Amino acid sequence: MSEQLSQLVRKNVRDLTPYQSARRLGGNGDVWLNANEYPTAVEFALTQQTLNRYPECQPVEVIERYAQYAGLNADQVLVSRGADEAIELLIRAYCEPGQDSVLYCPPTYGMYSVSAETYGVATRTQRLTADWQLDVPAILQQLDTVKIVYLCSPNNPTGHLLNAHDIRQVLDATAGKALVVVDEAYIEFCPQASVVSWMQTYPHLIVLRTLSKAFALAGLRCGFSLAQPEIIQTLLKVIAPYPLSTPVADIASQALSEAGLVAMRERVAELNRIRDSFIPRFAQLACVDQAFSSDTNYFLIRFRDAQTVFSGLWNQGIILRDQRKNPLLDDCLRVSIGTDAEMESLYQALTQFGSKE
Ligand SMILES: *Cc1c(COP(=O)(O)O)cnc(C)c1O
Repeated sequence: MSEQLSQLVRKNVRDLTPYQSARRLGGNGDVWLNANEYPTAVEFALTQQTLNRYPECQPVEVIERYAQYAGLNADQVLVSRGADEAIELLIRAYCEPGQDSVLYCPPTYGMYSVSAETYGVATRTQRLTADWQLDVPAILQQLDTVKIVYLCSPNNPTGHLLNAHDIRQVLDATAGKALVVVDEAYIEFCPQASVVSWMQTYPHLIVLRTLSKAFALAGLRCGFSLAQPEIIQTLLKVIAPYPLSTPVADIASQALSEAGLVAMRERVAELNRIRDSFIPRFAQLACVDQAFSSDTNYFLIRFRDAQTVFSGLWNQGIILRDQRKNPLLDDCLRVSIGTDAEMESLYQALTQFGSKE
């Protein structure tokens, strides 16, 4: 029976390894530093109580406020159920299964491959260089059949910005042939590095954004695609009729109000302060080989023995994200910036492990 049912599943879905979200990986504890979430809840009150009617497909106030925040026109903005949905909409709209491919640069965010595989679209990968930058010549060599290049800057999980010059080279090489998607999920932590203004020069550039990180709304599920009106119109052909529920649009709109933006920038300053105060301290710990700098609300630590540290912390209810399976990230664990108290708990817990030889 179940054998027969499994025969009905599309082959690429049968073979698919689903995205290993922090939630799926589980864990038990009170210090959650594994999903790059904002550490405390921000309060909102619903102002829209009318739920008998369908919502707008693209809630006008949300679109207009995001456009203003990003310095764009409203027709250059699409809102979706998280940036994750946007990653998938692009593949659905632009990639011919069995023919086109997408390219991305590991170690990076896991959803580019999961979305491509779900749709039967081939993936090309070009590993980052040893200093976690794009290997531009190698990328340029394998662009045939590539329809979408996904670049993540600042990159998850390394926490580093990609060199602007390298992104430009990829944009120059793909003009008229492929789309370049720059995933700026963490750009609020280093806003000066956004490439959104490049859209004027490069019509095939798409920038992805989210309310899940600096806006402290991962549970809301709300993200944005920024692109030429023509690309936005194409994505609107394949998006669900009502991607955002009325309460989501209501809260998103409040988060993007002037007061919402001020509060977001205060949260960013606070997390950046905590990050910059703790990284040098972690670097001094006996069990730590290296604590990497970061332009985001997370950073990597290379441990002398990451397995022992990861499971030891896990058993104490301090949950980090294991990165050891990723290329270039041997013995690395990713730490999301929590509250001062959470970071202090982590620091104290780490003093128990090993000693500097
Ligand atoms: C968290 C994250 C996303 C997903 O954002 P959602 O809006 O929560 O779907 C996309 N890209 C990167 C790099 C992320 O880290």
